[in-house]
Amino acid sequence: MDILANLNPQQQQAVTAGGGPVLVLAGPGSGKTRVLTQRVAYLINRMGVPPYRILAVTFTNKAAREMQARLERSLEQSVQGMWLGTFHAVCARILRREQQYLPFTSSFVIFDDDDQTSLIRRALKDLKLDEKSFRPNSVHSAISNAKNNLILADDYPAGTYRDEVVARVYQRYQELLLASNAVDFDDLLLYTWKLMNDNPNVREQYQQRFEHILVDEFQDTNLVQYSLLRLITGAHGNLFAVGDEDQSIYRWRGADYRNVLRFEEDYPAVQKILLEQNYRSTQNVLDAAQAVIDKNRYRTRKKLKSMPDKGAGERLSLYEAVDDYGEAAFVVDTVQQLIARHQAKGGDVAVMYRTNAQSRLLEEAFLRAGMPYRLVGAQRFYGRKEIKDVIAYLRLVQNPFDEVSLARVINVPARGIGDKAQLNLQLAAQGAGVSAGEVLLRLAQEGKQSPFWEQLGRSVTLLADFGTLLAGWRAQVDVMPLPNLFDRVLEEVNYEYFVKDGSEEGDGRWENVQELRRLAFEYEERGLTAFLENLALVSDQDTVQEGAEAPTLLTLHAAKGLEFPVVFITGLDDGVLPHNRSLDDPEEMAEERRLFYVGLTRAKLRVYLVRAAQRNVYGNFQDSIASRFLDDIPANLLQEQAGGFRARGGGRAQKQAQATWESRALRTQIGAAARQQPAAPVIQQQFRPGMRVRHPAWEEGIVLESKILDGDETVDVFFESVGFKRVVASLAKLEIIKK
Ligand code: ATP
Ligand code: MG
Repeated sequence: MDILANLNPQQQQAVTAGGGPVLVLAGPGSGKTRVLTQRVAYLINRMGVPPYRILAVTFTNKAAREMQARLERSLEQSVQGMWLGTFHAVCARILRREQQYLPFTSSFVIFDDDDQTSLIRRALKDLKLDEKSFRPNSVHSAISNAKNNLILADDYPAGTYRDEVVARVYQRYQELLLASNAVDFDDLLLYTWKLMNDNPNVREQYQQRFEHILVDEFQDTNLVQYSLLRLITGAHGNLFAVGDEDQSIYRWRGADYRNVLRFEEDYPAVQKILLEQNYRSTQNVLDAAQAVIDKNRYRTRKKLKSMPDKGAGERLSLYEAVDDYGEAAFVVDTVQQLIARHQAKGGDVAVMYRTNAQSRLLEEAFLRAGMPYRLVGAQRFYGRKEIKDVIAYLRLVQNPFDEVSLARVINVPARGIGDKAQLNLQLAAQGAGVSAGEVLLRLAQEGKQSPFWEQLGRSVTLLADFGTLLAGWRAQVDVMPLPNLFDRVLEEVNYEYFVKDGSEEGDGRWENVQELRRLAFEYEERGLTAFLENLALVSDQDTVQEGAEAPTLLTLHAAKGLEFPVVFITGLDDGVLPHNRSLDDPEEMAEERRLFYVGLTRAKLRVYLVRAAQRNVYGNFQDSIASRFLDDIPANLLQEQAGGFRARGGGRAQKQAQATWESRALRTQIGAAARQQPAAPVIQQQFRPGMRVRHPAWEEGIVLESKILDGDETVDVFFESVGFKRVVASLAKLEIIKK
């Protein structure tokens, strides 16, 4: 295997660079991610570095999985032992190993955004602060900001009255987290940094272990991440970072592209390597993107150069719809035409937007056209009530101190433990300085002998019963395979009966639970902790599916690092992109520009820029003006699509009338269609349980189950050769041999 084949000379230089700090700075599509992957292969295969001495940090879990698969394919060996994952996943792993240095145990849980908000609320309440004056979200983001800048609760700077309040909430919030044996996302990073910072012996141990550290998307690291990298990188300084300052788009999460400058200052011996050749896009796409980004100040200009064999490519299409309904309709029509003309397959297309809320009209338009699509976003599945309930049960089994999960399920399904009983439980726990979960377990164990028995009044037997259930599950954690434990918990609380209320939605809810159960099977060996951790760290971008037949709908943020032959960027109106919030802040405006730049540079062949002359804002149509970023694209690179608003001419009043009429007509249609359509993209199901099928590689098998998942028919098959497999019907070339 030739690791250096298919790399240009600069890429080769980066892959084979000697030890010490290396910084690869280069524009989009220049092969940074490829270089990082090949460098790992090079270290293992040519330099004899054992995989376990390598730490590679990717921006998403999905990118980590892909990198691992690619490495194992090209090296034809397992890279097990290598640490490969996001900063958060790597930190969680470190924290679980080092509990003797930490204020929580290794079975800590990771609180998601909702959990965090409810804990902030609880902290505000404990401190008798009014949520109206101190909005939980804004207090939370102040705390998160502090954490990302290495500021611990004790060090929170006092200044204004508000700062003092935030400092107190921060303190209380941390106490509550610890009482729940929980950490939030920011804590994963902060505690790891503190662990390394305060304990030279631990630090040295990791420094010795990781002979090579590699980081992708370096421009989106924040201060904690950067500081942590510095601590883990030992005296050898073998830190290899790749990035592009123009693609830094996570400022709101504390990302700071100036880390690139810090890197150069902190490691004067750094080898800087520039990659100049873009392999992804046509020159027209690159010229447009470059014109947009060149308006940003304080950056190093770089020229984006496409592969000569690609030619200039098509101009970028611009379409101005009458309103946002028309915008969505244009996207769907155009996708259908591209497919009909064999210019693209559904899966080649990405439709991008600034905020998640913009997906709704697009989804409706796809539904109305009967076209499958894929929506990227973890929330859709993991945000569902039934999924959160089940996860809360499992989290409680792993960690009975978890107050947030306990509050969620103590009376779900209803078991007679009402508000009053819950309050009594809390008071009893507080009085004894233990967690509510502990009180339950002790009631179960000690029965009437328990000092808590008297205190808890009439509901005590119900509480003790719940404690008995919990104790029973906990006794099984290390004994019972995860899927069985999963079933047992749900059976004992009668969860199926609870969610299946006879309605179609009820059946859907139970199916979702089954979907989660299927995932639990994948964690049979690694167990409950790994399962829960994976769930906690799943991000939007992890839900992008490979080899999809259908167009992908995703935010510009989620599109980072990806590439698609055809890209639509919708909502190119001032106030949408750039976003309203950024209009009077130059730094924010620069970030919005980078976001647009990231979107444009995802495209290999075609770009459609779409906007609407009017938008429905809270039920009213409001005029909107074209995004200022469009003005920066030279006219010769743009072509206006026929049928748009401007192309039609007519006076303003006439346009207005026409617009209103059209959108009303459209909305009526959409409304009617939405009422008729089932809640999933319409596609035909071909396989039924019991059918015999043949697969090109796995030969014959029998269909166990078939269902539509995210717009594709997904079939579970038992193959004689390889056992149970789940395949997507449209991709797997399954042949039916017996109905
Ligand atoms: P981004 O900044 O968007 O993350 P990147 O710099 O990481 O982009 P890659 O994703 O690694 O770029 O590469 C972009 C595309 O170019 C990929 O399809 C990759 O396979 C291809 N590519 C990279 N280098 C080469 C090369 N030397 N020869 C052919 N194709 C290449
Ligand atoms: Mg990349």
